[in-house]
Amino acid sequence: MKFAIQSKGDDTSNKIKKQITNYLNEFDLTYDEEEPDIVISVGGDGTLLHAFHRYVNRLSETAFVGVHTGHLGFYADWTPDEVEKLVIHLAKTPFQIVEYPLLEVSICFNDDIPDKRYLALNECTIKSMEGSLVIDVIIKGDRFETFRGDGLCLSTPTGSTAYNKALNGAILHPSLSAIQLAEMASINNRVFRTIGSPLVLPEHHTCTLKPVNDVNFDITIDHLFLTQKDVQSIRCRVAEERVRFARLRPFPFWKRVRESFVSD
Ligand code: NAP
Ligand code: MN
Repeated sequence: MKFAIQSKGDDTSNKIKKQITNYLNEFDLTYDEEEPDIVISVGGDGTLLHAFHRYVNRLSETAFVGVHTGHLGFYADWTPDEVEKLVIHLAKTPFQIVEYPLLEVSICFNDDIPDKRYLALNECTIKSMEGSLVIDVIIKGDRFETFRGDGLCLSTPTGSTAYNKALNGAILHPSLSAIQLAEMASINNRVFRTIGSPLVLPEHHTCTLKPVNDVNFDITIDHLFLTQKDVQSIRCRVAEERVRFARLRPFPFWKRVRESFVSD
């Protein structure tokens, strides 16, 4: 088995990276940054987002596991003092895998620029580069509303505890193959109206966003910021690809939610 380690880059994370590498080498596992079977992220959830995007083109061959050097994370749920246990587990292949849904975002342009396609582990956000975002929200081919406000956020179930939560979106269990559309400060008065509630869309229910006037947007895909000009439409749906996590011990999602947000 081949492994790679993505470190947050601080001294503590780098030290743990070295420690894990030494342990795994003793177990005859090879360090391979190009084609790892397992990627160990050492840092926070943000570090795992980096690792995910680094290996996004080989998701079916790579599994992820996260060690947190700060507070408990949603993707980084192993503590530094459990590293030895983690390594022994990993060396005893095969381990169980859990798969979580991803968000597919396709951006189409007005001129001859080819479409761009992205996968998000947490979410995609769309904002205007200046002033309010005005955009038509089309669900399964039918115009649902014209949104006016700060922006829109489309998130995955595992991303529902991130930005989406700050927008009062629901927390979705990752066994649900769904995406969630949440509003950022919509303008609601006698002239402009949006639904106001977050919407949860199942597989195959594509949400297409079509510019009304302005065609330039600030778009984020997880931690990545993109400026997109001359946009014709942004299509979001549950991706066919899934992200795979090594499941070495049970750590139920609702327990993680409680320990992160309610109490430990
Ligand atoms: P960051 O600014 O360090 O991240 C913001 C916080 O979100 C960090 O505490 C991060 O944890 C946490 N986080 C990331 N994914 C999460 C998840 N799935 N569930 C619960 N918490 C999560 O930036 P970053 O580390 O590069 O992460 C990018 C993410 O930040 C974006 O995908 C977005 O979800 C989130 N964000 C949130 C807001 C908001 O809540 N208002 C605004 C912008 C962006 P770690 O400290 O462990 O990295
Ligand atoms: Mn972070």
